[in-house]
Amino acid sequence: MQDLVSLREILRTPKKIVITTHAKPDADALGSSLAMWAYLKKKGHDPKVITPTDYPTFLNWMNGNDEVIVYEENVELSTKLVKEAEVIFCLDFSALGRINEMGELVKNATATKVLIDHHLEPEYFADFVFWDIKAAATAVLIYKLIIGLGDREYLDTCIGECIYAGIMTDTGSFRHPSTNKEVHMIIAELLNLAVDVSRIHRLIYDNNSESKLRFLGFALLEKLVVERDLYAAYIAISEADLKRFDSQTGDTEGLVNYALSIDGVVIAAVIIERPDSVKLSFRSKGDFSVNEFARRHFEGGGHLNAAGGKSNLNLEDTVKNFLEVLPAYKEQLYQNYKLEKSL
Ligand code: 5GP
Ligand code: MN
Repeated sequence: MQDLVSLREILRTPKKIVITTHAKPDADALGSSLAMWAYLKKKGHDPKVITPTDYPTFLNWMNGNDEVIVYEENVELSTKLVKEAEVIFCLDFSALGRINEMGELVKNATATKVLIDHHLEPEYFADFVFWDIKAAATAVLIYKLIIGLGDREYLDTCIGECIYAGIMTDTGSFRHPSTNKEVHMIIAELLNLAVDVSRIHRLIYDNNSESKLRFLGFALLEKLVVERDLYAAYIAISEADLKRFDSQTGDTEGLVNYALSIDGVVIAAVIIERPDSVKLSFRSKGDFSVNEFARRHFEGGGHLNAAGGKSNLNLEDTVKNFLEVLPAYKEQLYQNYKLEKSL
């Protein structure tokens, strides 16, 4: 609680603030950032949200979206703002590598750094750390921080919508094991703020382009591979596939869940060829830790049941590598399968 007292003291007078989050922000990353942005603005600060890269258009409805600065597209301005900032909030990531080139910039910045996150195994680069791996979303921590700072009265519908989006998506619409009593209590408070939960669900999930849906069909019909003996399924997508379906940022989000939904599958992967490297996205059922798996084999990390990583091999060799490392986990995967089925 000492941390909260000192942070409140720092935020007592108007400050130049930068809020940043991980590359290719999802609804929790952007929702947390824009909730924080709106709150700090109301408190009389001068906050700017800088994302390392762009993000899916289905997040564009959030209050403050028009003022978000994308680092890749505004390197000069972003650099200036980070250097001049008095406080930098780092949300929904805990390793500087996750903000690409901005990592060095933030590391060397003179600002007071505040890390708010729920991922496993953080790097300790910040002055204040609000880190809770049990939190269902970073947005939960943002809500609790605002309350903890004694600023409940600053919460409003717009802030509530951003927080709701983060919690809804990171809990898989309230079905992941992280969905605890606290989550539902917070959602009840957000309903008190007149957040239209049905509208937010539609804005995020019923906002597909035709090409995204056709791409999903293609991926499931032609690219999904099920390795029954290994309790695994994967989908490998090339750059050419992405081009063919005019794939936009966010169009591959959620794909991995279809592979995981197959009966008998305990680990699922989506492996995507990107211009600079191959990106992997993992999901698991039960106690099988894809965080450890991604950390050990693919320079990544995340959560127990949702993690990501990358590979510098080409797409084909990355798939080969994935299939080579899997057999060592066969027994563990089988045990989790048995547990799921209670066999
Ligand atoms: P997704 O598969 O949705 O991209 O990511 C799943 C989870 O793993 C998210 O919480 C995300 O922040 C984390 N994650 C994704 N890629 C990486 C990575 O390369 N490194 C680390 N440490 N975490 C990642
Ligand atoms: Mn998150």
